[in-house]
Amino acid sequence: MRGANLSRGRLLAVSCALSAGLLAATSPAADAAPAPVFSPGAPGAGDPYFPDMGNGGYDVSHYDIRLTFDPGTHAIDATTTIFATATQNLSRFDLDFQGPLTIGKLSVNGLNATFTRSGAQELVITPPFGLRQGSAFVVSVSYAGVPQQIDDPALGLSGWVATKDGAVALNQPIGAATYYPVNDTPDDKATYTQTITVPAGLTVLANGEPGPTTTHDHQTTFRWSMNRPMASELSMLAIGGYHVTRGVTAGGLPDITAIGQSIDTKPGQDTVFNQTTAQIVQWESSMYGQYPFDSTGGILADVGVGYALETQSRPVYDQKTSDVDGDLLAHELGHQWFGDSLTPVHWSDIWLNEGFATYSEWLYQEKFNNVPVQQTFAKAYADEKDWSGEVADPGRDHIFDDLVYNRGAMTLQALRTKIGDRAFFDVLRQWPAAHRYGNVSTRDFIEFVERLTGRDLGSFFHAWLYQPGKPKL
Ligand SMILES: [Zn+2]
Repeated sequence: MRGANLSRGRLLAVSCALSAGLLAATSPAADAAPAPVFSPGAPGAGDPYFPDMGNGGYDVSHYDIRLTFDPGTHAIDATTTIFATATQNLSRFDLDFQGPLTIGKLSVNGLNATFTRSGAQELVITPPFGLRQGSAFVVSVSYAGVPQQIDDPALGLSGWVATKDGAVALNQPIGAATYYPVNDTPDDKATYTQTITVPAGLTVLANGEPGPTTTHDHQTTFRWSMNRPMASELSMLAIGGYHVTRGVTAGGLPDITAIGQSIDTKPGQDTVFNQTTAQIVQWESSMYGQYPFDSTGGILADVGVGYALETQSRPVYDQKTSDVDGDLLAHELGHQWFGDSLTPVHWSDIWLNEGFATYSEWLYQEKFNNVPVQQTFAKAYADEKDWSGEVADPGRDHIFDDLVYNRGAMTLQALRTKIGDRAFFDVLRQWPAAHRYGNVSTRDFIEFVERLTGRDLGSFFHAWLYQPGKPKL
C-alpha cells in the first residue's frame, strides 16, 4: 500500500465430497480404535494486532465467489463456496464474515449446517457431523444485502467500498470479510475464482486471469481466476465503467490495465499506463527474479480511499493517490514479489512488504531519474525526525506509518552498504525465490541473509529493526 499525503501511508477435486460418502468419516471406528474426539477450531489465527482475524482447525485451498451486483440498490446476492481440509478433528469451525449481509443458506458437504454469528466477524458453523483431521470438506454460504466498508480510525477505508457507478473491494488488512466468508489470515493462502454478474455496460476486474464473458437478459457475467496462492487481504474486485487496455510485457506476460471512465485522462494515458506497467514489471523481474503470477496490470479507480494497494497481480491506484507515476507503480508492482508472493505471517512484520516496496521506488529513481539510492537514503536518514518506534513491531495502529516504509527501506540500504552490492542483489533475487507463494517473518529474513553472507548480522538488524533510536552508520 502507499498513501497520498498520508502519514500512514489447485482447486481440490472435492466435488465428490458433496456426496454423502464423506459422512463415512464419522462412522464408528473399528472395534479396537478409540473413538475420535472432535473439538471446535480456534476463533482467531493468533495475530497479536488482529486477534479475531482468521481461524484455526482447517486450511482453505480455494474460494469460488459467485456474486450478482445491483448498482441501483448497491446490493449483492452471492454464494461463496470454500474448499478446505480439516487440520484437526473439528466439531465446529469459524469463518470471518462481517457487516449487515444476511445469510440465507449454509451447507457443509451439501448438508445444511447450523450457524451463529458472534462478535464483529465470527461466523460459527456446526456441521451435522464431525470433520476428521485430514479430510477435505466444502462449505457453501449464500447471502445477500448491501456490503459495508470498514472505516478504521487508524487504518482508513477498506473492504467493499461503494463508488458512483459500482464498487471497489480493497481488503488490506481486514476488508475481505465485508463481502465473502473467509479465513481472513495471510497465512492461509488459496486460489480464487470470482464470477461476477452486473448489468450490461458495466465492467468487472479482479485478480488474475479473465475467463469468458457472457451476456444474457441485459446482465453480463465476468469470470476471473487467480491460480496462484493468494492471501485474502490481496483479493480485489472492481465494478463500474472502465476503459480496459490489454498489452503484453517484453517477457510475454499478459498485462491488463483499466482506467475508470469517470476519471479525466490525458489523450493516450491508457496506453502509457499499460506500457509503463509492462516496463516496470520487466525491469523489476531483472532484479527480483521471475515474476510470480500469470499476468500483471493495474486499475486506476475513482474510489476515494486515498491510497494505492498491491492487490495480487493487479494493483489498484486510487485517483486520490497523490501521483500515479512511475514511483508508485514501482512500489505496488514491487509488492508482487514482496508482500504478495511472500507474505508476512504476522502484521507486525509488514516492513518486509513496505520496506522492499519503498526500496523499489528508490531503485526506480536511480534507474529512471538518475537519483542515486544512497542519496535518497542520506536524505531520509537526515530528515527523519521520529526514531522512537520499532520497525519490526510498529503496533496495530501504525502498520502503515512512515516508520515501516522509510525506515524499512533505510534498513535495506544500510544492509547493502554493510554486505556489498553483490550479496545484496543476491538477497533481492534469492529471498523471493526461496519463499515463493509462502509466508515469512523478520526472523526468517535475518536468518536467510546470515546464511547467504555467512555473517552474524544480529546486532545490525537489532539496531535497525528492533531497537528504538537512530542507528549509527
Ligand atoms: Zn506498499
